[in-house]
Amino acid sequence: MRKPVVGISLKIYMNRRKEAKQYIEQLKAVCTDISSADLFLFPSMGTISVASEILQNTPLHFGSQNIAAIENGALTGEFSVESLVDLNGSYVELGHAERRQNFNETDQMIQQKIKIAFANQLIPVVCIGESAAEKQTVKSHLKAQLAADFQGIPSTQLVQAIIAYEPIWAIGQKEAASSEYVHQAHGFIRAALTELYGEKVAQAIRIIYGGSVSKENAAALVNDENVDGVFVGRFGHDPANFKKIVEIISEIKGGR
Ligand code: PEP
Repeated sequence: MRKPVVGISLKIYMNRRKEAKQYIEQLKAVCTDISSADLFLFPSMGTISVASEILQNTPLHFGSQNIAAIENGALTGEFSVESLVDLNGSYVELGHAERRQNFNETDQMIQQKIKIAFANQLIPVVCIGESAAEKQTVKSHLKAQLAADFQGIPSTQLVQAIIAYEPIWAIGQKEAASSEYVHQAHGFIRAALTELYGEKVAQAIRIIYGGSVSKENAAALVNDENVDGVFVGRFGHDPANFKKIVEIISEIKGGR
């Protein structure tokens, strides 16, 4: 049985230490008693040290929204995995659509970053998803992304990865993708993982949905055997809403 996962990224919405501290302390409080799901937070990159101070030894894991494709060296403006490990972070978000689009991140770069993440005992949350124009070929698009991003990763590591399915057209919207569409896409991902890496690996990997998740739509989105949780954005900026989403996912997935 796969343990459910609920994560949240703050992108660059809360960038000052004071506001980050206030939010992360509230989030920590609402997550205190949660053991039924794995929880993670990606704070704004400039406030990871704040998360590190507040979240040590709590059920709310934290990490960075990116790492450089090399560990150490001449890469001006990048964030090194060495800093994340030093701060005791344990998760890393890789391949988000905004990074693929705005920073020209390729699958090859993401694959390199996944390798660095595993080499440093981090859990990579690997984002994949199609654009509106790619909807017609979503099945082959997702399989190609999985094959490229995970190329050369041993299955002992692969099973630790979390895949975040985030259709680009559903990010930052009022509404998430429909639950029917999401369930079908997660089925495609599970099937592609089976073809690429075998049944055992495919069954072990957690696949979560991201893109305008809210407390209103979370239940329908996760009500499918291939959806192992959600990746929340704006609609988790109120800690009470994040808590509600965690409760919904724990209740629905806990009974499986
Ligand atoms: C995201 O882009 O990963 C995300 C979860 O954002 P939102 O929910 O705000 O669309």
